[in-house]
Amino acid sequence: MPATVTFSVEIELGWGVVQYGKLDVLSPNREAETSALKRLLDLCDEIEVPITFNVVGHLLRDTPLKSYDSGHKAGWFDDVPKTGPEKAPRFYAPDLINDIRDASVNHEICTHTFTHVECANVSPETLRWEFDKVMKTHENFGLDQPISLIPPRHSPPPRKILREYDIEIVRSSRVRAPGYNEATNRLQLALDILTGTQPITSPRVVDDIVETYCTQFPSLTAPFLRSGQADPHPVFRAIPQTVRRRLHSRNLTDVLSTAIRQDSYIHIWSHLWETANGVQWPLIEKFLRHVSKLRATNQLSIRTMEELNREAR
Ligand SMILES: [Zn+2]
Repeated sequence: MPATVTFSVEIELGWGVVQYGKLDVLSPNREAETSALKRLLDLCDEIEVPITFNVVGHLLRDTPLKSYDSGHKAGWFDDVPKTGPEKAPRFYAPDLINDIRDASVNHEICTHTFTHVECANVSPETLRWEFDKVMKTHENFGLDQPISLIPPRHSPPPRKILREYDIEIVRSSRVRAPGYNEATNRLQLALDILTGTQPITSPRVVDDIVETYCTQFPSLTAPFLRSGQADPHPVFRAIPQTVRRRLHSRNLTDVLSTAIRQDSYIHIWSHLWETANGVQWPLIEKFLRHVSKLRATNQLSIRTMEELNREAR
C-alpha cells in the first residue's frame, strides 16, 4: 500500500477573518484570491491533483439572506455587507465555486459551515440553522449534499448533529488522534510551526464519523512566510526569508518522505487567501509537482475526503 495524502483548501474569504478583525489579510476586492484560485486550479488540471475545497455556504449566494435571525451571538452579522458579489466579493463568491466546478479535475466541494461558526461554541439550534442553510444552498447551486465537514478553527461539532445531516467525515485537530497533543505554550507552537511538525496517522472511525487529522495551523502554506496580504509575525521575520523558504520546502518534502516510509497518511491544508501572494505560491507549485511525480511512481496516492471516507468504512 502506498502512503496517502489529502489536500484541503478553505474557501472562506471574509467569513473566516471578519469576526477576528483581520479583513486586511485579504485583497480589497479579492483580486488576489480570485487569481490565486485560478492558478491553483490550472496547476491541478495540468498535474491531475484533486483537492477538497471546503466552502463557507454563504459564499455560494449572490444575494443576501432575507433574514439573518438565527440565534448567533449578538452582532455576528453586523460587519457582513447585505449586498452581493459586485459590492462585497469577499462575502459572496459563487463565481469561485463555479471555477472549481468547471475544472477538469474532479475536486470535492464540501462544507466549512454556513457562516464560519466555531461549532462547539454555538447552540445546537444555531448549528442546525447552519447545516439547514448549507444543505439548501448546495442543492440550489446544483452541488451534491456535502458529506465532508471542515469545522472552522477545528472546533469539534457534536457528532449527533453531524449524523442528523449525513456528514460522514470531519477534518480534525491532531489532538483527537491517539498519541498526539497540541502545543501547550507559544514557544512550543512557534517551534512546531518552524519545524512543520505534522501528525502522520491513519484516519479512523469514531462514533460513526471518520476523522482525518492535521495540524491546527496551515501546512500547505507556512505561517512564517506570509499570510495572504499580511506580513508574518515579527518573531519569524527575524529569520531571513530565503532561509524560511528553504525551511518550508524541506518540512513539506520531509513529512511526505516519512509518511511514505511508514506507509501512512497525511492531511495537508491551507486557506485560499493564504496562498494569494508571490511568496507562498512558488513553493506550493513545486511541492504539488513533487507529489504528482511520487504518485506516478506509485509511492503515494491522493484522496479527497469523500474518497477517504469510502475507504475508511
Ligand atoms: Zn476557516
